[in-house]
Amino acid sequence: MKEITIISGKGGTGKTTIVGSLASLAEGAVFADCDVDAANLGLIMKPDTRESHEFRASSQAFIDSEKCALCGRCQDLCRFDAVLDTSDGGYQVDGLSCEGCGVCFHACPADAIEMREVVSGQWFISDTPYGTLVHARLGIGEDNSGRLVTQVRQKARELASEADNVEVIITDGPPGIGCPVISSLTGTSMALIVRSLAAQPFMTWAALLSSASTSMLK
Ligand code: SF4
Ligand code: SF4
Repeated sequence: MKEITIISGKGGTGKTTIVGSLASLAEGAVFADCDVDAANLGLIMKPDTRESHEFRASSQAFIDSEKCALCGRCQDLCRFDAVLDTSDGGYQVDGLSCEGCGVCFHACPADAIEMREVVSGQWFISDTPYGTLVHARLGIGEDNSGRLVTQVRQKARELASEADNVEVIITDGPPGIGCPVISSLTGTSMALIVRSLAAQPFMTWAALLSSASTSMLK
Protein backbone atom coordinates (compact mmCIF):
# COMPACT_ATOMS: atom_id res chain seq x y z
CA MET A 1 0.00 0.00 0.00
CA LYS A 2 1.44 3.37 -1.01
CA GLU A 3 0.55 6.68 0.60
CA ILE A 4 1.05 10.01 -1.15
CA THR A 5 0.98 13.07 1.10
CA ILE A 6 0.49 16.52 -0.42
CA ILE A 7 1.89 19.35 1.69
CA SER A 8 2.91 22.98 1.36
CA GLY A 9 4.76 25.64 3.27
CA LYS A 10 1.76 27.93 3.50
CA GLY A 11 -1.98 27.76 3.03
CA GLY A 12 -3.55 28.66 -0.30
CA THR A 13 -0.91 27.11 -2.57
CA GLY A 14 -3.37 24.68 -4.15
CA LYS A 15 -2.84 21.41 -2.24
CA THR A 16 -6.50 20.56 -2.09
CA THR A 17 -6.99 21.37 -5.78
CA ILE A 18 -4.22 18.91 -6.61
CA VAL A 19 -5.69 16.25 -4.32
CA GLY A 20 -9.07 16.78 -5.99
CA SER A 21 -7.48 16.42 -9.42
CA LEU A 22 -5.69 13.23 -8.36
CA ALA A 23 -8.98 11.95 -6.96
CA SER A 24 -10.66 12.26 -10.34
CA LEU A 25 -7.77 10.39 -12.00
CA ALA A 26 -7.11 7.71 -9.39
CA GLU A 27 -8.85 4.39 -9.60
CA GLY A 28 -8.90 2.56 -6.31
CA ALA A 29 -7.85 5.08 -3.65
CA VAL A 30 -8.78 6.06 -0.12
CA PHE A 31 -8.49 9.75 0.73
CA ALA A 32 -7.45 11.34 4.03
CA ASP A 33 -7.94 15.03 4.76
CA CYS A 34 -5.32 15.71 7.41
CA ASP A 35 -5.70 19.50 7.38
CA VAL A 36 -7.86 19.07 10.47
CA ASP A 37 -7.68 22.74 11.51
CA ALA A 38 -9.29 23.84 8.25
CA ALA A 39 -10.48 20.74 6.41
CA ASN A 40 -11.75 21.59 2.94
CA LEU A 41 -11.28 18.52 0.76
CA GLY A 42 -14.95 17.76 1.44
CA LEU A 43 -15.91 20.97 -0.39
CA ILE A 44 -14.86 19.48 -3.71
CA MET A 45 -15.41 15.74 -3.12
CA LYS A 46 -19.11 15.87 -2.23
CA PRO A 47 -18.90 13.57 0.81
CA ASP A 48 -21.89 11.61 2.02
CA THR A 49 -21.10 10.99 5.70
CA ARG A 50 -21.33 7.32 6.66
CA GLU A 51 -19.87 7.49 10.18
CA SER A 52 -19.26 10.29 12.65
CA HIS A 53 -17.12 9.93 15.81
CA GLU A 54 -16.15 12.17 18.72
CA PHE A 55 -12.47 12.96 19.16
CA ARG A 56 -11.47 13.02 22.84
CA ALA A 57 -7.83 13.79 23.45
CA SER A 58 -7.74 16.24 26.31
CA SER A 59 -9.20 16.88 29.74
CA GLN A 60 -10.28 19.91 31.71
CA ALA A 61 -10.60 20.69 35.39
CA PHE A 62 -14.03 21.17 36.95
CA ILE A 63 -14.57 22.57 40.46
CA ASP A 64 -17.31 21.15 42.65
CA SER A 65 -18.53 24.26 44.48
CA GLU A 66 -20.14 22.13 47.20
CA LYS A 67 -16.81 20.60 48.16
CA CYS A 68 -14.65 23.70 47.58
CA ALA A 69 -13.13 25.13 50.77
CA LEU A 70 -12.41 28.48 49.05
CA CYS A 71 -8.70 28.33 49.87
CA GLY A 72 -7.70 29.83 46.50
CA ARG A 73 -4.78 27.44 46.03
CA CYS A 74 -5.90 26.33 42.56
CA GLN A 75 -6.04 29.94 41.36
CA ASP A 76 -2.59 30.71 42.79
CA LEU A 77 -1.02 27.66 41.16
CA CYS A 78 -2.65 27.74 37.72
CA ARG A 79 -0.05 29.19 35.38
CA PHE A 80 -2.64 29.58 32.61
CA ASP A 81 -4.89 31.89 34.68
CA ALA A 82 -7.73 29.48 34.04
CA VAL A 83 -9.27 29.62 37.53
CA LEU A 84 -11.65 32.57 37.71
CA ASP A 85 -13.53 34.20 40.58
CA THR A 86 -17.29 33.78 40.58
CA SER A 87 -19.68 36.52 41.61
CA ASP A 88 -20.53 34.68 44.83
CA GLY A 89 -16.92 34.49 46.02
CA GLY A 90 -16.15 31.01 44.71
CA TYR A 91 -14.01 29.71 41.86
CA GLN A 92 -14.67 28.24 38.45
CA VAL A 93 -12.49 27.00 35.62
CA ASP A 94 -12.50 28.75 32.26
CA GLY A 95 -12.63 25.88 29.78
CA LEU A 96 -10.96 27.84 26.97
CA SER A 97 -7.93 28.67 29.13
CA CYS A 98 -7.56 25.35 30.96
CA GLU A 99 -4.75 23.26 29.49
CA GLY A 100 -5.66 20.16 31.45
CA CYS A 101 -2.29 20.00 33.22
CA GLY A 102 -3.88 18.66 36.42
CA VAL A 103 -1.87 20.83 38.85
CA CYS A 104 -5.00 22.14 40.57
CA PHE A 105 -6.44 18.63 40.78
CA HIS A 106 -3.38 17.37 42.65
CA ALA A 107 -3.04 20.47 44.83
CA CYS A 108 -6.65 20.85 45.99
CA PRO A 109 -6.82 20.04 49.72
CA ALA A 110 -10.58 19.45 49.61
CA ASP A 111 -10.66 16.97 46.73
CA ALA A 112 -13.04 19.40 45.02
CA ILE A 113 -11.53 19.26 41.52
CA GLU A 114 -12.30 16.63 38.93
CA MET A 115 -10.49 16.15 35.63
CA ARG A 116 -12.96 15.28 32.87
CA GLU A 117 -12.32 14.21 29.28
CA VAL A 118 -13.69 16.74 26.81
CA VAL A 119 -14.68 16.45 23.16
CA SER A 120 -12.04 18.24 21.10
CA GLY A 121 -13.48 17.58 17.67
CA GLN A 122 -15.01 15.00 15.37
CA TRP A 123 -13.80 12.66 12.67
CA PHE A 124 -15.81 11.17 9.84
CA ILE A 125 -15.87 8.40 7.25
CA SER A 126 -17.65 9.48 4.08
CA ASP A 127 -18.49 8.04 0.70
CA THR A 128 -17.59 10.18 -2.29
CA PRO A 129 -17.90 9.60 -6.05
CA TYR A 130 -14.11 9.00 -6.06
CA GLY A 131 -13.69 6.68 -3.09
CA THR A 132 -13.83 6.69 0.68
CA LEU A 133 -12.78 9.87 2.45
CA VAL A 134 -11.65 10.05 6.08
CA HIS A 135 -11.79 13.62 7.40
CA ALA A 136 -12.09 15.54 10.66
CA ARG A 137 -12.97 18.81 12.28
CA LEU A 138 -11.00 20.08 15.25
CA GLY A 139 -13.05 22.15 17.69
CA ILE A 140 -12.54 25.92 17.91
CA GLY A 141 -9.54 26.75 20.09
CA GLU A 142 -8.65 23.08 20.59
CA ASP A 143 -5.17 21.65 20.31
CA ASN A 144 -4.02 18.05 19.77
CA SER A 145 -4.33 18.45 16.00
CA GLY A 146 -1.38 16.04 15.57
CA ARG A 147 -3.27 13.29 17.38
CA LEU A 148 -6.36 13.91 15.29
CA VAL A 149 -4.25 13.65 12.13
CA THR A 150 -2.90 10.32 13.40
CA GLN A 151 -6.46 9.12 14.00
CA VAL A 152 -7.49 10.10 10.45
CA ARG A 153 -4.47 8.38 8.90
CA GLN A 154 -4.90 5.21 10.95
CA LYS A 155 -8.51 4.87 9.89
CA ALA A 156 -7.65 5.57 6.24
CA ARG A 157 -5.01 2.81 6.37
CA GLU A 158 -7.44 0.40 7.98
CA LEU A 159 -10.10 1.04 5.34
CA ALA A 160 -7.57 0.82 2.51
CA SER A 161 -6.20 -2.52 3.73
CA GLU A 162 -9.72 -3.96 4.13
CA ALA A 163 -10.78 -2.96 0.61
CA ASP A 164 -10.10 -5.28 -2.33
CA ASN A 165 -9.27 -2.75 -4.99
CA VAL A 166 -7.41 0.02 -3.12
CA GLU A 167 -3.72 0.45 -3.83
CA VAL A 168 -3.05 3.97 -2.68
CA ILE A 169 -3.98 6.44 0.05
CA ILE A 170 -3.94 10.09 -1.04
CA THR A 171 -3.51 12.47 1.87
CA ASP A 172 -4.26 16.18 1.84
CA GLY A 173 -1.81 17.49 4.43
CA PRO A 174 -1.87 20.70 6.45
CA PRO A 175 0.29 23.73 5.61
CA GLY A 176 3.31 24.83 7.61
CA ILE A 177 5.91 22.88 9.56
CA GLY A 178 4.12 22.17 12.85
CA CYS A 179 2.94 19.09 14.68
CA PRO A 180 0.06 18.18 12.32
CA VAL A 181 2.43 18.34 9.34
CA ILE A 182 4.90 15.96 10.99
CA SER A 183 2.01 13.66 11.90
CA SER A 184 0.88 13.74 8.25
CA LEU A 185 4.33 12.92 6.88
CA THR A 186 5.63 10.29 9.26
CA GLY A 187 5.88 6.95 7.50
CA THR A 188 4.34 8.14 4.23
CA SER A 189 5.59 6.62 0.97
CA MET A 190 5.90 9.85 -0.98
CA ALA A 191 5.52 13.56 -0.36
CA LEU A 192 4.46 16.06 -2.97
CA ILE A 193 5.34 19.62 -1.94
CA VAL A 194 3.26 22.38 -3.51
CA ARG A 195 5.12 25.69 -3.52
CA SER A 196 3.83 29.12 -4.33
CA LEU A 197 5.97 31.26 -6.62
CA ALA A 198 6.88 33.49 -3.67
CA ALA A 199 10.19 32.61 -2.02
CA GLN A 200 9.94 30.01 0.72
CA PRO A 201 12.49 28.69 3.19
CA PHE A 202 13.28 25.48 1.35
CA MET A 203 15.97 24.51 3.84
CA THR A 204 13.30 24.41 6.55
CA TRP A 205 11.44 21.85 4.49
CA ALA A 206 14.55 19.78 3.97
CA ALA A 207 15.13 19.66 7.73
CA LEU A 208 11.50 18.78 8.39
CA LEU A 209 11.37 16.00 5.84
CA SER A 210 14.56 14.38 7.06
CA SER A 211 13.24 14.42 10.65
CA ALA A 212 9.89 12.95 9.71
CA SER A 213 11.34 9.46 9.17
CA THR A 214 9.60 8.99 5.84
CA SER A 215 10.25 5.51 4.60
CA MET A 216 10.32 6.09 0.86
CA LEU A 217 10.39 9.82 0.35
CA LYS A 218 10.62 10.88 -3.27
S1 SF4 B 1 -7.88 24.37 45.67
FE1 SF4 B 1 -9.78 23.22 45.92
S2 SF4 B 1 -10.64 23.96 47.85
FE2 SF4 B 1 -9.09 25.44 47.22
S3 SF4 B 1 -10.24 26.98 46.06
FE3 SF4 B 1 -9.50 25.49 44.57
S4 SF4 B 1 -11.16 24.03 44.38
FE4 SF4 B 1 -11.56 25.18 46.24
S1 SF4 C 1 -5.85 21.74 35.00
FE1 SF4 C 1 -4.04 23.09 34.90
S2 SF4 C 1 -4.64 24.65 33.42
FE2 SF4 C 1 -6.52 23.65 34.04
S3 SF4 C 1 -7.28 24.92 35.71
FE3 SF4 C 1 -6.06 23.27 36.63
S4 SF4 C 1 -4.02 24.14 36.87
FE4 SF4 C 1 -5.13 25.47 35.44
